[in-house]
Amino acid sequence: MAKEYFVGVDIGGTKIAAALVNGKGEILARGKAPTPRSGPKRILKAVEDLVEGVAAEKGRKPKGLRGIGVGAPGIVDPGGRKILVAPNVRLAGFPLVRKLRKRFGVGVALGNDVNLGVLGEQRFGAGKGTENVVGIFPGTGVGGGAIVGGRLMLGAHGAAAELGHVVVDPNGPRCGCGSRGCLEALAGRSAIEREIRRALRAGEKSVVQVLVGGKLDVIKSKVLAKALKSGDLVVTRIIRRASEALGSACVSLRHVFDPELFILGGGLIEACGDFILPIVQRSLDHDPLFAKVSACRAVPSRLGDDAVILGAAALAMETF
Ligand SMILES: [Zn+2]
Repeated sequence: MAKEYFVGVDIGGTKIAAALVNGKGEILARGKAPTPRSGPKRILKAVEDLVEGVAAEKGRKPKGLRGIGVGAPGIVDPGGRKILVAPNVRLAGFPLVRKLRKRFGVGVALGNDVNLGVLGEQRFGAGKGTENVVGIFPGTGVGGGAIVGGRLMLGAHGAAAELGHVVVDPNGPRCGCGSRGCLEALAGRSAIEREIRRALRAGEKSVVQVLVGGKLDVIKSKVLAKALKSGDLVVTRIIRRASEALGSACVSLRHVFDPELFILGGGLIEACGDFILPIVQRSLDHDPLFAKVSACRAVPSRLGDDAVILGAAALAMETF
């Protein structure tokens, strides 16, 4: 496979990233562009330009291109042909796969971005060598994916592994999806921000006020990490609770999937993983039902921003 190349594309709400990848998952060239807001045709053009750009880099012959993988936010039909629901990019219903196939004359595979991020980690990152992996990515919300027996689990409608909406506390706070006490409503960054603002309104003091200069509408993961390092009581308590919610979710998900590994990634874990992961691991270690089953580890993701690109390329590799 050394002379075969794939292009992985990650279409995000604000930017599109693409890379030329060889069969071993090594990135040979990369490019990125802002995501056009004006509609699917402009997005298609941006993706085409990026694919062309990275494929042409270093004089690679286009005939070596074996396939293109695309990760996009939202629900993708399990056949990987269409994006059914896409809240953050204007691509729902657009025949992106058909258009790209026609333009480049190679197979095009499409998947949900977080699912593909987990696939990328399993093939080329923190999960290399494993077959059963559950990935949880707390960012603003909480995304997830599951690899079962080496294959990405898609479900009947392509909507499997919406792990952020697993209910952890039926009496918990209302989630953006309408349910109560979803993992996302307890452990997403928006939920953590909300709890910090509530504590401050109640008169508690936190170093966060100084770190954000009084602007409390967005509290970035790096600010949370600084507050944790300084021993801030409010942030420590709130992130501990979020970590325990992640731990409870992992215990339940372990009962469903029996994975070798949980891979945790995303901005919150990159910044605060040293605090969060040991709490999640403790929950897994104290699960009485699985006390005699060999240990299941919770590990941080390794690929960072490249996870989706590499997962998209991996999907193209296994499809074509
Ligand atoms: Zn929810």
